[in-house]
Amino acid sequence: MNPPAIAIDGPAASGKSTVAKLIAKELGYTFINTGAMYRAITWYALRRGANPADAAQICALLPEIPLEFGKDGTCSTVLFEGRVLSAELTSPETNQYVSTIAAIPEVRAYLLRKQREYNKVEPVVMEGRDIGSVVFPDTPFKYFVTASPEERARRRAKQGLTDSITERDKKDASRACAPLTQAPDALLVDTSEMSIEQVVERIITDIRTKLA
Ligand code: C5P
Repeated sequence: MNPPAIAIDGPAASGKSTVAKLIAKELGYTFINTGAMYRAITWYALRRGANPADAAQICALLPEIPLEFGKDGTCSTVLFEGRVLSAELTSPETNQYVSTIAAIPEVRAYLLRKQREYNKVEPVVMEGRDIGSVVFPDTPFKYFVTASPEERARRRAKQGLTDSITERDKKDASRACAPLTQAPDALLVDTSEMSIEQVVERIITDIRTKLA
């Protein structure tokens, strides 16, 4: 049996990364940001001059993709040529194309294996779009974190990032393979009117109850 896996899903700019990181810290689990994995593939494909809309071109890159999905302490990282990728993962270009590349089934299958590998050796808090529905469908710890579109747009603008989150959400929710969805057994947490501390408390309480 694998160690516990906490699945945190939700739309863009719902605050799930911040919350997932804090929950991981509180529990002493490793925090895995799966969006960064899709973003890294997108960044690399664009760097190679591939057309994001041409699935065959993107799939051809996968077998030899020189990205390392590892971790630094208790956080997942993506390395390229020994360097941790960071700012390039949230560039306007990466934001623009990541949902197109994330809709390619082969890309998802490639990352699914890597995501599950993390949990073979240690407990994880993993955030994304399909963690409760596809990556860890059997985990009892599933949370769907959301907020109103206005509040999410406000949060993203505060980060100073160019990112049309509504368009991304639409693409993510409408793709055929592993769409953004609330798993039927996930606890819905609408954070529009909640502080980060309240959201963390709500989820941690549920986890501890289930662990006990
Ligand atoms: O979480 P973040 O906004 O960084 O994710 C970037 C994009 O990666 C999403 O808009 C989505 O297209 C893709 N993604 C996904 N499945 C995940 C995590 C992210 O399709 N589990």
